Amino acid sequence: PSAIKSVAVEIPHVSWSDIGGMDHVKMILKESIELPLTHPHLFEMMRVPPPRGILLYGPPGCSKTLMARAIATSGNMNFLAVKGPELLSKWLGESERALASLFRRARLASPSVIFFDELDAIAQKRGSSGGSGGDRLLSQLLTELDGVSSDGRSSRVVIVGATNRPDILDPALTRPGRMDRKIYVGLPNADGRESIFGIGLRGKRCHEDVDVSKIASDDISHGYSGAEIVAICRDAALLAIGEMDDGNMEQPQIRMCHLLEAIKNLKPRTTSEMLYFY
Ligand code: ATP
Repeated sequence: PSAIKSVAVEIPHVSWSDIGGMDHVKMILKESIELPLTHPHLFEMMRVPPPRGILLYGPPGCSKTLMARAIATSGNMNFLAVKGPELLSKWLGESERALASLFRRARLASPSVIFFDELDAIAQKRGSSGGSGGDRLLSQLLTELDGVSSDGRSSRVVIVGATNRPDILDPALTRPGRMDRKIYVGLPNADGRESIFGIGLRGKRCHEDVDVSKIASDDISHGYSGAEIVAICRDAALLAIGEMDDGNMEQPQIRMCHLLEAIKNLKPRTTSEMLYFY
């Protein structure tokens, strides 16, 4: 028995409209994933192989995982998610076996998406991981990626990788035919933040003084990630509940002041050093 647990096959339910902003990223993904699935003949006619692998890179909490799930949802594909560090084992050969088993499961579940979060943990530049174990795992990952693209039957296994550190990835990973689409998923702009606040407040009772476009403006929420905005909406709801008095325990409502206070209490964590790599 392996100490590395085997990866579950899921059917995700994330639609493109569950992701606020990031219109450019969504457009590229739809084009590169949906079109080959819905109109494969176009790619055959033009003699171009559809992309097998996509690398999403950018700061934490900016919807890389959501994007991977939306790809699988929109293409009616099974979804297998694994975090790079979960594949690392101190036992000789165990990581390789886990990786092989992951690709086998994905082929059996095809059409499918394999999502590698924290890909840098298993795909650092060769010679940099302090031992040959990491290099062996990387070679095997490359072999599996090549296998996915050469074997016709497994052509509907799409690989999506995510990392905050594109600078330390081995360049062999992003060669043509492997993860050759690299897409930057960055912090949302004001329009993006407005839709993310909309999504975060969806289904929550809001007072009419709540002005989402004002909250989303650069003056108030510049630099916040999607994950932080969703957390702010949740914190504002908790503040609204906490403020209720005995006379009115029925109908909590988020007001502008709750959102502003939640923003004040939660500082954005994406630093300029983190944006340095992109
Ligand atoms: P990490 O690099 O830390 O893995 P990530 O880029 O993969 O982060 P996600 O896991 O996709 O980020 O986002 C975390 C959570 O933040 C999501 O489950 C969602 O609730 C919220 N979120 C992030 N971005 C958005 C967005 N654009 N629209 C709506 N919700 C978002």
